[in-house]
Amino acid sequence: MKSLKHIFLIVFIIYSNNFFSSEEDKSFQEQSMLSVLFVQTSAEFAANNIQTYANASKALDIALNDKSWSAALEQIDDFQDKQPAIIIDVDETVLDNSNFQSRTILSGLSYPNGWKEWVDEAKAGEVAGVRDFLYLAEEKGVAIYYLTNRLESLREGTIKNLINLGLPFDKNKNMLLMRKEENSRDKTERRKHIANKNRILLVIGDQLTDFISTDEAYIYHKERKKLAEKYSEMWGTKWFLITNPTYGRWELSIYEDFPESEEEAIEIRKDTLVP
Ligand SMILES: [Mg+2]
Repeated sequence: MKSLKHIFLIVFIIYSNNFFSSEEDKSFQEQSMLSVLFVQTSAEFAANNIQTYANASKALDIALNDKSWSAALEQIDDFQDKQPAIIIDVDETVLDNSNFQSRTILSGLSYPNGWKEWVDEAKAGEVAGVRDFLYLAEEKGVAIYYLTNRLESLREGTIKNLINLGLPFDKNKNMLLMRKEENSRDKTERRKHIANKNRILLVIGDQLTDFISTDEAYIYHKERKKLAEKYSEMWGTKWFLITNPTYGRWELSIYEDFPESEEEAIEIRKDTLVP
């Protein structure tokens, strides 16, 4: 529990007080540069995402034809005849925010600085492969639920972005489930809500918490990594994970003890490397 508390504290400080942000010294934000370049320039990253969505498309058929199939841990009983649905995260799963990440490197100011402005611009690109997958789901009559931790205040910009890209979105349907409050990041209740009405065929995301609870996923990295193995039967069959090397819980999980400065955070990063 000690680690869990630390991680909550880190999240609070990083995301609430812009602790690691400095226009004078950009070196901390610049540590993200190679990961963002990988996302923005590499054929390997795009190919990996095309591969993931191609495999998800194949799994969709299998899932549709097997009424005993559900991909949500929250789905417990009596779901065989419910409307089939998929649950898909938004940021770095559907929308590519790497332009925003680039801005943080160039300005030295991290999230949430400039995040609302970026969302309201509605100019995020799409993750490679996602378009064909979403249209396949729609063609097959599968309901699409975009389940995001973007705050409700960002609803308009998010919908505008999805529509600008021409991705499946119907304003008359409840397709976008957002985060109600600053500290309600756990998606479990929202998945349960969707599973009450639907049979969940597949879950797709870029963070462990797109699939499991924050209670389970907010732990120190050495234990956290074992969760990949714990759910090995889900990956590539019912759960599809988009790689996100640029940010996420994986990074926060390397800080067992709370770093008090950017320098200390960099030291912990170095100490965590395995030579
Ligand atoms: Mg995401």
